[in-house]
Amino acid sequence: MPSSVIVAGAGIVGAALAYFLSARGIRVELFDEEAPAAQASGAADGAVSVASKRPGAMMTTALAGIALYRKLARDGVFADLFKPRSTFLVAASDAECEVLEAHCAALSGAGVRVTKIDRATVAEKFRVLSPDVGMAAEVHDEGHAIGYQIVHGLLRASGIAVRRREKVQRILVSSDGTCVKGVATAKGEYTADAVIIASGLGSADLLGLSGTLIPRKGQLLVTERAPALNGRMPGAMMSCRYLLSKGSQKGRPAPARGLALVVDPLRTGQFLIGGTREDHGDRRTNDLDAVSKILADAVALIPGLVDVRLLRCFAGARTAVVDGLPIIGRVGSFGNLFVATGFEGDGICLGPVSAESVVAMVCGEKPALNLDPFTPSRFPKLRIAA
Ligand SMILES: Cc1cc2nc3c(=O)[nH]c(=O)nc-3n(C[C@H](O)[C@H](O)[C@H](O)COP(=O)(O)OP(=O)(O)OC[C@H]3O[C@@H](n4cnc5c(N)ncnc54)[C@H](O)[C@@H]3O)c2cc1C
Repeated sequence: MPSSVIVAGAGIVGAALAYFLSARGIRVELFDEEAPAAQASGAADGAVSVASKRPGAMMTTALAGIALYRKLARDGVFADLFKPRSTFLVAASDAECEVLEAHCAALSGAGVRVTKIDRATVAEKFRVLSPDVGMAAEVHDEGHAIGYQIVHGLLRASGIAVRRREKVQRILVSSDGTCVKGVATAKGEYTADAVIIASGLGSADLLGLSGTLIPRKGQLLVTERAPALNGRMPGAMMSCRYLLSKGSQKGRPAPARGLALVVDPLRTGQFLIGGTREDHGDRRTNDLDAVSKILADAVALIPGLVDVRLLRCFAGARTAVVDGLPIIGRVGSFGNLFVATGFEGDGICLGPVSAESVVAMVCGEKPALNLDPFTPSRFPKLRIAA
């Protein structure tokens, strides 16, 4: 077992790595080029959800991810940070109903508790929804968490001070080239028994992954508090167009700029409404075209939102991988260099559980998750910035 580990990146993955490492008594140096949750983890919707995952490894890992959130909520680490709730997948057109039927079958096959709801029952029980909704499905036992709150919860529990505004520039390799010794920043060199790269989009420079990691922008909206309407929403409402936009369906590629609708009733009485999937990384701006389309979609699905004012908009850049799966595991032939990145729109759900398994790997144990589908070795061009 290593006695010290360097982690590059203090998003949700880096913070969770720090938490699980320090829980084993391992000394952690955690670096961030900006600040904790400064990038995707601070700009996420926060669905801790299997509802939109692709069948296969992503669904299985998401189920484990939700279970870990429940455990950490019980243990107090995520006390009051995880809101258990269902997700309702809603279909408005025949094409969406077809997608929903197929997706429900995939979810049930993976052991997810799903209840299909026909048009008449939707109209009777979910009066907040537009009468155009033809079918819905309740995905039970899910939840919601605000990414930056989870990052701070993990860091608080680990007791680690992040080295802020200290970018990892290079990875230091031993003279015989068999293992890594540590990292270099503008402030100097740091050594440790193992190094883990959890730098989101910044992982591309450190591991020669440009072209493999792709920035995927998302724009999100937050409304004012509307407790009466919020109280009538039994969970998050996710349009089946979200599945199409995300490419969650086998054989259906994601469009270059997807507009997909999720309306999440927050504990505060507000609504979080998302969002876009755009193949670029400008995370500083919102555009009126996207915002007005998201709002129009939201009001079309939940007509009562027409009386609720928009409070703010924000954007973030997800770290997507060309083949749609995250990159998690040991890097190349180095026994003590690891990576956990490329979680795209799923890292709030998958980040902590993946970090737990990476820590097991770093400690020479068999990880609880099957990480084989996510192995870095599927990208043979991966090279470290030494
Ligand atoms: C709009 C939007 C909506 C989303 N909605 C959801 C959702 O509903 N559910 C869900 O599960 N996920 C969602 N996600 C995805 C989720 O936010 C990400 O997958 C997750 O936050 C990734 O965490 P990370 O730690 O890998 O990366 P990041 O949060 O990007 O963290 C990487 C960190 O590394 C730092 N860094 C970069 N380079 C270096 C370097 N060289 N040295 C040191 N530090 C460095 C950065 O400053 C950053 O703080 C959403 C994302 C966006 C943008």
